[in-house]
Amino acid sequence: MSGISENLEQILIELPQNVKLVAVSKTKPIEDITEAYRTGHKIFGENKVQEIIYKHEKLPKDIEWHFIGHLQRNKVKLIVQFVDMIHSVDSLRLLEKINEEARNINKIVNCLLQIHIAEEETKYGFSEDELVQLLPLPEFKTLQNIKVCGLMSMATYTNDTKQIYREFKYLSDLFKTIKDIYFTDNEYFKEISIGMSGDYKIAVDCGSTMVRIGSNIFGERNY
Ligand SMILES: *Cc1c(COP(=O)(O)O)cnc(C)c1O
Repeated sequence: MSGISENLEQILIELPQNVKLVAVSKTKPIEDITEAYRTGHKIFGENKVQEIIYKHEKLPKDIEWHFIGHLQRNKVKLIVQFVDMIHSVDSLRLLEKINEEARNINKIVNCLLQIHIAEEETKYGFSEDELVQLLPLPEFKTLQNIKVCGLMSMATYTNDTKQIYREFKYLSDLFKTIKDIYFTDNEYFKEISIGMSGDYKIAVDCGSTMVRIGSNIFGERNY
Protein backbone atom coordinates (compact mmCIF):
# COMPACT_ATOMS: atom_id res chain seq x y z
CA MET A 1 0.00 0.00 0.00
CA SER A 2 1.53 3.26 -1.06
CA GLY A 3 -1.18 5.50 0.36
CA ILE A 4 -1.03 7.86 -2.63
CA SER A 5 -4.76 7.83 -3.33
CA GLU A 6 -5.58 8.25 0.38
CA ASN A 7 -3.19 11.19 0.69
CA LEU A 8 -4.62 12.82 -2.40
CA GLU A 9 -8.22 12.39 -1.31
CA GLN A 10 -7.46 13.73 2.16
CA ILE A 11 -5.91 16.89 0.73
CA LEU A 12 -8.83 17.37 -1.66
CA ILE A 13 -11.32 17.13 1.22
CA GLU A 14 -9.51 19.89 3.09
CA LEU A 15 -8.99 22.25 0.17
CA PRO A 16 -11.64 24.88 -0.54
CA GLN A 17 -13.64 24.18 -3.72
CA ASN A 18 -12.15 27.12 -5.58
CA VAL A 19 -8.54 26.01 -5.08
CA LYS A 20 -7.07 23.77 -7.78
CA LEU A 21 -4.66 21.03 -6.80
CA VAL A 22 -1.62 20.47 -9.00
CA ALA A 23 -0.22 17.08 -7.94
CA VAL A 24 3.55 17.49 -8.29
CA SER A 25 4.82 14.15 -9.56
CA LYS A 26 8.44 15.11 -10.31
CA THR A 27 10.94 12.24 -9.78
CA LYS A 28 8.04 9.81 -9.20
CA PRO A 29 7.42 6.79 -11.45
CA ILE A 30 4.57 6.26 -13.90
CA GLU A 31 2.90 3.77 -11.50
CA ASP A 32 2.57 6.42 -8.79
CA ILE A 33 0.95 8.87 -11.18
CA THR A 34 -1.34 6.13 -12.45
CA GLU A 35 -2.47 5.46 -8.89
CA ALA A 36 -3.31 9.13 -8.38
CA TYR A 37 -4.98 9.30 -11.80
CA ARG A 38 -7.24 6.36 -10.93
CA THR A 39 -8.84 8.43 -8.15
CA GLY A 40 -10.02 10.77 -10.90
CA HIS A 41 -7.34 13.39 -10.45
CA LYS A 42 -6.14 14.86 -13.77
CA ILE A 43 -3.81 17.76 -12.99
CA PHE A 44 -0.10 16.98 -12.60
CA GLY A 45 2.97 19.18 -12.32
CA GLU A 46 6.53 18.51 -13.44
CA ASN A 47 9.68 20.63 -13.38
CA LYS A 48 11.98 18.95 -15.92
CA VAL A 49 11.48 19.03 -19.68
CA GLN A 50 12.67 15.49 -20.45
CA GLU A 51 10.61 14.06 -17.62
CA ILE A 52 7.36 15.79 -18.57
CA ILE A 53 7.81 14.67 -22.21
CA TYR A 54 8.36 11.06 -21.14
CA LYS A 55 5.42 11.03 -18.76
CA HIS A 56 3.12 12.75 -21.24
CA GLU A 57 3.97 10.03 -23.76
CA LYS A 58 3.35 7.16 -21.36
CA LEU A 59 0.23 8.38 -19.58
CA PRO A 60 -3.41 9.00 -20.57
CA LYS A 61 -3.94 11.94 -22.87
CA ASP A 62 -6.59 13.62 -20.76
CA ILE A 63 -4.04 14.55 -18.10
CA GLU A 64 -3.50 18.32 -17.72
CA TRP A 65 0.26 18.83 -17.55
CA HIS A 66 1.53 21.90 -15.70
CA PHE A 67 5.16 22.89 -16.11
CA ILE A 68 6.46 24.36 -12.85
CA GLY A 69 10.26 24.41 -13.24
CA HIS A 70 12.79 26.79 -14.71
CA LEU A 71 12.35 26.65 -18.48
CA GLN A 72 15.13 27.31 -20.99
CA ARG A 73 14.14 29.03 -24.22
CA ASN A 74 15.62 26.30 -26.39
CA LYS A 75 13.38 23.71 -24.72
CA VAL A 76 10.06 25.53 -25.17
CA LYS A 77 9.40 23.93 -28.54
CA LEU A 78 9.56 20.45 -26.98
CA ILE A 79 6.66 20.94 -24.57
CA VAL A 80 4.53 23.74 -25.96
CA GLN A 81 2.14 21.48 -27.89
CA PHE A 82 0.94 19.52 -24.88
CA VAL A 83 1.34 21.64 -21.72
CA ASP A 84 -1.79 23.19 -20.26
CA MET A 85 -0.02 25.80 -18.20
CA ILE A 86 3.50 27.08 -17.65
CA HIS A 87 3.74 28.42 -14.06
CA SER A 88 7.33 29.52 -14.15
CA VAL A 89 7.70 32.28 -16.72
CA ASP A 90 10.47 34.53 -15.46
CA SER A 91 11.55 36.76 -18.35
CA LEU A 92 10.18 38.67 -21.32
CA ARG A 93 12.53 36.74 -23.60
CA LEU A 94 11.00 33.48 -22.43
CA LEU A 95 7.48 34.85 -22.94
CA GLU A 96 8.41 35.91 -26.48
CA LYS A 97 9.81 32.47 -27.20
CA ILE A 98 6.69 30.71 -25.88
CA ASN A 99 4.58 33.10 -27.96
CA GLU A 100 6.58 32.34 -31.10
CA GLU A 101 6.44 28.56 -30.67
CA ALA A 102 2.74 28.70 -29.79
CA ARG A 103 2.01 30.77 -32.90
CA ASN A 104 3.82 28.20 -35.05
CA ILE A 105 1.38 25.52 -33.94
CA ASN A 106 -1.62 27.81 -33.71
CA LYS A 107 -2.09 27.44 -29.97
CA ILE A 108 -2.70 29.81 -27.07
CA VAL A 109 -0.60 28.89 -24.05
CA ASN A 110 -1.67 29.60 -20.46
CA CYS A 111 1.17 31.18 -18.51
CA LEU A 112 1.78 32.48 -15.02
CA LEU A 113 4.43 35.06 -14.23
CA GLN A 114 6.77 33.81 -11.52
CA ILE A 115 7.51 36.39 -8.84
CA HIS A 116 10.51 36.26 -6.54
CA ILE A 117 9.34 36.77 -2.96
CA ALA A 118 11.70 34.47 -1.00
CA GLU A 119 14.92 35.33 0.77
CA GLU A 120 16.93 32.77 -1.18
CA GLU A 121 18.53 34.17 -4.29
CA THR A 122 18.47 30.76 -5.91
CA LYS A 123 14.77 31.05 -6.61
CA TYR A 124 13.75 32.49 -9.95
CA GLY A 125 11.24 35.15 -10.84
CA PHE A 126 10.49 38.81 -11.49
CA SER A 127 10.81 41.35 -8.71
CA GLU A 128 7.88 43.73 -8.21
CA ASP A 129 9.88 46.47 -9.99
CA GLU A 130 10.62 44.24 -12.95
CA LEU A 131 6.97 43.21 -13.17
CA VAL A 132 5.75 46.80 -13.13
CA GLN A 133 8.22 47.62 -15.90
CA LEU A 134 7.15 44.63 -17.98
CA LEU A 135 3.37 44.95 -17.95
CA PRO A 136 2.98 48.25 -19.86
CA LEU A 137 5.51 47.33 -22.56
CA PRO A 138 4.10 47.01 -26.09
CA GLU A 139 6.24 43.86 -26.53
CA PHE A 140 4.32 42.35 -23.63
CA LYS A 141 0.87 43.55 -24.58
CA THR A 142 1.09 42.27 -28.13
CA LEU A 143 1.83 38.63 -27.28
CA GLN A 144 -1.11 37.13 -29.17
CA ASN A 145 -0.54 33.47 -28.38
CA ILE A 146 -0.13 33.79 -24.62
CA LYS A 147 -2.84 34.02 -22.02
CA VAL A 148 -1.40 35.54 -18.86
CA CYS A 149 -3.50 33.81 -16.20
CA GLY A 150 -1.91 35.14 -13.02
CA LEU A 151 1.12 34.93 -10.75
CA MET A 152 3.15 32.09 -9.24
CA SER A 153 5.59 32.15 -6.39
CA MET A 154 7.48 30.17 -3.76
CA ALA A 155 7.98 31.28 -0.17
CA THR A 156 11.26 31.07 1.68
CA TYR A 157 12.09 27.57 2.92
CA THR A 158 11.68 28.19 6.66
CA ASN A 159 9.72 27.08 9.72
CA ASP A 160 8.83 30.68 10.46
CA THR A 161 5.14 30.64 9.56
CA LYS A 162 4.80 34.39 10.11
CA GLN A 163 7.42 35.01 7.47
CA ILE A 164 5.71 32.64 5.03
CA TYR A 165 2.41 34.37 5.71
CA ARG A 166 4.01 37.78 5.10
CA GLU A 167 5.51 36.63 1.80
CA PHE A 168 2.27 35.07 0.50
CA LYS A 169 0.24 38.08 1.61
CA TYR A 170 2.67 40.33 -0.23
CA LEU A 171 2.16 38.29 -3.40
CA SER A 172 -1.58 38.27 -3.11
CA ASP A 173 -1.65 42.07 -2.56
CA LEU A 174 0.63 42.50 -5.56
CA PHE A 175 -1.77 40.36 -7.61
CA LYS A 176 -4.72 42.60 -6.68
CA THR A 177 -2.82 45.79 -7.40
CA ILE A 178 -1.68 44.80 -10.85
CA LYS A 179 -5.00 43.20 -11.73
CA ASP A 180 -6.72 46.53 -11.06
CA ILE A 181 -4.21 48.45 -13.15
CA TYR A 182 -3.22 46.16 -16.02
CA PHE A 183 -5.81 43.40 -16.27
CA THR A 184 -9.11 45.09 -15.45
CA ASP A 185 -10.98 43.76 -18.47
CA ASN A 186 -9.11 40.48 -18.51
CA GLU A 187 -11.19 37.57 -17.25
CA TYR A 188 -8.23 35.17 -17.47
CA PHE A 189 -5.97 36.93 -15.02
CA LYS A 190 -7.28 35.21 -11.90
CA GLU A 191 -4.78 32.63 -10.65
CA ILE A 192 -2.47 32.88 -7.65
CA SER A 193 -0.28 29.77 -7.70
CA ILE A 194 1.16 29.54 -4.18
CA GLY A 195 1.45 26.74 -1.63
CA MET A 196 3.48 23.52 -1.46
CA SER A 197 3.38 20.58 0.96
CA GLY A 198 4.80 22.51 3.90
CA ASP A 199 2.94 25.78 3.48
CA TYR A 200 -0.21 25.30 1.42
CA LYS A 201 -2.60 26.00 4.30
CA ILE A 202 -1.01 29.40 4.81
CA ALA A 203 -1.17 29.97 1.06
CA VAL A 204 -4.89 29.16 1.01
CA ASP A 205 -5.44 31.69 3.83
CA CYS A 206 -3.64 34.25 1.68
CA GLY A 207 -5.86 33.71 -1.37
CA SER A 208 -4.16 30.92 -3.28
CA THR A 209 -6.21 29.58 -6.22
CA MET A 210 -3.71 26.81 -7.11
CA VAL A 211 -1.58 24.77 -4.77
CA ARG A 212 1.31 22.64 -6.04
CA ILE A 213 1.71 19.65 -3.74
CA GLY A 214 4.22 16.83 -4.17
CA SER A 215 5.62 15.08 -1.11
CA ASN A 216 2.38 15.17 0.90
CA ILE A 217 0.81 13.08 -1.87
CA PHE A 218 3.62 10.93 -3.25
CA GLY A 219 5.98 10.80 -0.27
CA GLU A 220 9.48 12.20 0.09
CA ARG A 221 11.59 12.40 -3.04
CA ASN A 222 14.96 10.65 -3.38
CA TYR A 223 17.12 12.60 -5.79
C1 LIG B 1 8.71 20.42 -6.11
C2 LIG B 1 7.87 21.62 -6.26
C3 LIG B 1 6.64 21.73 -5.59
C4 LIG B 1 6.11 20.68 -4.64
O1 LIG B 1 6.92 20.57 -3.51
P1 LIG B 1 6.46 19.68 -2.24
O2 LIG B 1 7.14 20.35 -1.10
O3 LIG B 1 6.95 18.32 -2.49
O4 LIG B 1 4.99 19.75 -2.13
C5 LIG B 1 5.89 22.86 -5.81
N1 LIG B 1 6.31 23.85 -6.63
C6 LIG B 1 7.47 23.78 -7.29
C7 LIG B 1 7.85 24.91 -8.20
C8 LIG B 1 8.30 22.67 -7.13
O5 LIG B 1 9.46 22.62 -7.80
